[in-house]
Amino acid sequence: MSTKADFKSIGREELGQRLRDLDEPAYRADQILQWVYDKQAESFAGMSNLSAPLRKKLADSFTLDAVHALKTRNATDTTEKFLFQLRDHSLIETVLIPATPGLTSSSDRRTVCVSTQVGCAYGCKFCASGLDGIKRNLTAAEIVDQVLQVQKLSGEKVNNIVVMGMGEPLANYENLMRALRIINAPWGLGIGARKITVSTVGLVPQIKQLADEPMQIRLAVSLHGATDEVREKIMPVNKKYPLKELLDACDYYVNTKKRMMTFEYILIEGVNDSLEQAHKLGAAARRLRAKVNLIPCNPVEGLLLKRPDRDRCKMFQHTLQTHGITSTLRLEKGTDINAACGQLRLQHETGAKAAPKDEHHG
Ligand code: SAH
Repeated sequence: MSTKADFKSIGREELGQRLRDLDEPAYRADQILQWVYDKQAESFAGMSNLSAPLRKKLADSFTLDAVHALKTRNATDTTEKFLFQLRDHSLIETVLIPATPGLTSSSDRRTVCVSTQVGCAYGCKFCASGLDGIKRNLTAAEIVDQVLQVQKLSGEKVNNIVVMGMGEPLANYENLMRALRIINAPWGLGIGARKITVSTVGLVPQIKQLADEPMQIRLAVSLHGATDEVREKIMPVNKKYPLKELLDACDYYVNTKKRMMTFEYILIEGVNDSLEQAHKLGAAARRLRAKVNLIPCNPVEGLLLKRPDRDRCKMFQHTLQTHGITSTLRLEKGTDINAACGQLRLQHETGAKAAPKDEHHG
C-alpha cells in the first residue's frame, strides 16, 4: 500500500497547510480543489493551470482515487447499483436512486446511498451486511469518492445523500464527519446539510454528539421494534442502548436541532408487525414528532424473513395514523434483481422520503 495521503480525506485548510509545507502558496488549494470536485480530474498531471513541478509534487504526495468501479447493475426500477473495489481489494456497494416522477416532490432529485464500513459489527437479525461481521471502517476519502465516482459514471450531479449503505455510520464517527464536511463544503461537493441523512442502529452517545455538531444533518433511526422485548430479539444493540435511552437521545437531537427526524421500521411477519407495536411506535413518534418509514422487509438469503401481507402493512400504517403520525409505505409488485440485498429496498423507500410532509404512499 502506498504511503501517500488520500487527497479526498483532507479539507481546504489542511490542503493549504500542506501546500505551504511544499513551498507553494496556499491559494493554489482552491485551484486544485476545483479540479478534483468540480471538474472531477482523473490525475494531477492533467491539471493544466498548475505548474509542472507542482503537479509532480502533488502526484508524489497524494493519491486521487480511493474507490474503483468494478461493475454497475440496473435494477428494474431505475435504481443503479455500483460495486466498488477499495485499494485493499475489499468490496462495497453504493446505490444511485434517481428521481421517481410522481412520487417525489422535486423531479430532479438524485440520491446516492453510501456505505461507511466494510461489513458491520451490529448483527441485526434481518440484515445482510452484518452476516460476516465487520472488516474495517471506510476512510473519509472512500466515503467521499463513492459520491464522486457515481457522479462521474452516471454523468449526473448528485444532490442528495443518504448514509444507509453497508455499515453503521455512527460507529465510524470521525471519518464520517470528515467526509460529510467535504461533501457539504462549497469547495467540495456543495450538497446542503439538509440534503444529507444519516441512518443509525441507535448509538446513543453518538446521536447526542451529532446533535451538537454545527451541521444540520438529518437523522434517521432504525427502530424496527417499539418495545425492548421485540427490538432486542432482532437488534442485539438494544441490550446496550435500550429504547428509553435511545428515545431520550432522539429527543435531545430533535430539540437541539429543531428538525424533524425519521424512524425506519421494517415490517417482519410475526416478529414486529402486531398492532400493539404499531400503537407503541405511534406514541413514540408522536412524542418526538417524527415521521415513520415503513418498509416491508426484504428477503435475505439464509435468513428467515417474511413480509406481512399488504393488508397487514396497511393496517399497521393506519394504526400509526390514529396517533397523528405521517408514514410512508411502499408496496411494490414483484421483486427486482437486487431483492437479495437487504439494503436496496430501503433505498427505494428513501426516494419516497422526498414527498411533502403530509403525503402518504401505498
Ligand atoms: N447501520 C445503519 C445504516 C445501514 S442499514 C442503520 O442500521 O440504520 C440501512 C437500513 O436498511 C436500516 O434501516 C436497516 O434496518 C435496513 N435493512 C437491513 N436489512 C433489511 C432488510 N432485509 N429489509 C429491509 N430493510 C433492511
